[in-house]
Amino acid sequence: MSKGLLFVVSGPSGCGKGTLLAEILKNDNIFYSVSATTRSPRPGETDGINYYFLTKEKFEELINNNGMLEYAEYCGNYYGTPRKPVEDMLAEGRHVILEIEVQGAMKVMEKCPDAVFVFILPPSLKELRRRLNKRGTETEEVIEKRLGEAAGEIRQAYKYDYTLINGELSKAVDDMKAIIRAEELNAKNYPNYINEVLENA
Ligand code: 5GP
Repeated sequence: MSKGLLFVVSGPSGCGKGTLLAEILKNDNIFYSVSATTRSPRPGETDGINYYFLTKEKFEELINNNGMLEYAEYCGNYYGTPRKPVEDMLAEGRHVILEIEVQGAMKVMEKCPDAVFVFILPPSLKELRRRLNKRGTETEEVIEKRLGEAAGEIRQAYKYDYTLINGELSKAVDDMKAIIRAEELNAKNYPNYINEVLENA
């Protein structure tokens, strides 16, 4: 069985990654990697579904036991990708999506050079501020911190394989689906297909 593909998706807080990926995840062959974090749950967030909400001690224990594929500190909290579920799903032939910030993505780039890196851009910084304010899940202070990170993150978008603008949601969803399909058809990802055709003489 062919291995699945690893997609790493980044974008500044408020760019609409969550909404976009919710549409993409309607495809059963795609597994969303649930991250661990030390930040507190937002209203409506559930442990094990949105994140594994851990204490700092537990998070550091996982780091020390090599349980994290990558991790980073963002706005004063740890965020990290538990290694095992990602490796298991890829081995089963399912695609895996990591929704992670830029420092973590750079670590995955070193460890998994075959992964596909997608950066989601907001239409503008002004629109990003408007969306964060409208979401209303963060305090004014946290919003300012996140906006402070945004420009620096966007400057790194050129390191990714693909960038897409999340202006109109349906268009961004189509673009993301196109990226996934293009990678599925990439000859370097599925060399076995070529042999299968030749063997079926
Ligand atoms: P939020 O607090 O808004 O849920 O997430 C803050 C940032 O952390 C977002 O940019 C999100 O993509 C990123 N993030 C979420 N999970 C992980 C992870 O496992 N590793 C890293 N490096 N970043 C993550």
